[in-house]
Amino acid sequence: MTFEVTILGSNAAVPAFGRHPSAQVLNVNEQCYLIDCGEGTQIRMNDFNIRRHRINQIFISHLHGDHIFGLIGLLTSYSLGQRTEKMDVFGPAGIQELLDVQLKYSQSHLTYPLNVHVVDPTESALIFSDKNVSVTTIPLDHRIPACGYLFREKDRLLNIIPEKLEAYGIDFKQIRDIKNGEKGISAAGKEIDNHLLTLPPYITRTFAYCSDTAYKPDIIPILENIDLLYHEATFNEEKSENAVATKHSTARQAAMIARGANVKKLLIGHFSSRYHDLNVLLHEASAIFNNTELAIEGKTFSVELRRMNSLKN
Ligand SMILES: [Zn+2]
Repeated sequence: MTFEVTILGSNAAVPAFGRHPSAQVLNVNEQCYLIDCGEGTQIRMNDFNIRRHRINQIFISHLHGDHIFGLIGLLTSYSLGQRTEKMDVFGPAGIQELLDVQLKYSQSHLTYPLNVHVVDPTESALIFSDKNVSVTTIPLDHRIPACGYLFREKDRLLNIIPEKLEAYGIDFKQIRDIKNGEKGISAAGKEIDNHLLTLPPYITRTFAYCSDTAYKPDIIPILENIDLLYHEATFNEEKSENAVATKHSTARQAAMIARGANVKKLLIGHFSSRYHDLNVLLHEASAIFNNTELAIEGKTFSVELRRMNSLKN
């Protein structure tokens, strides 16, 4: 029942101070989702023991090189490994052409179906869903079309307590109905209240990735009460003019988004190469939103599994 994000790269623009361009892997119940794919992503996957065959979906925020220049290398490496399983890639318009040109002139042939899905970065829409998560776009404000992604774990049913079914002599054919909240019927034909047979479901967990973007408070309603928010914090307030000019955010602004949305935890990243010591950014964000951490490469941030509070005793 894993829900955790591993940082593969968190520097802006160019590699610096041992930091690499943007990439993250979200692991939900051992299915992995890659978010952005800057240069060096597959090398970082090796460094941090990411099982790349568990990735079947890749979500690209925008087409600036520090978010996508690792993608063609990764996709062609899958072919060298004789991958046959299909791969879905999501990203703004132009992504298909970008990949087609690289595949064409490098004469690379993929051994698996590659499905490229163009997303509209101007709206928040459900773009993907599987048994683990649903993914919704978050419109961002950058120099070229860019969107974030909100990952929401799928709702879970009530959890059966097998020993209780046995104790009441309840037929296992009733499991589906009991998971949906129905009463059970015991071997003696007696109705057994659902709360005696089940534990409350787990609360669905959420993670949002917002990079790159200028300060954009109108995304706050999309992020309300989520567990974990990664928001870019390229500069500190002292360099807020640079942030405005390049359509990036300051650490303070990232924290204002986190506070406004009442998220549980904020990760800041996409650090400008001007900062060797990142504490200046951490301190600035923490002053506004206390539960802030730096998205340090190689670190994994987990969201705990919690059960809903039962209203029954
Ligand atoms: Zn960018």
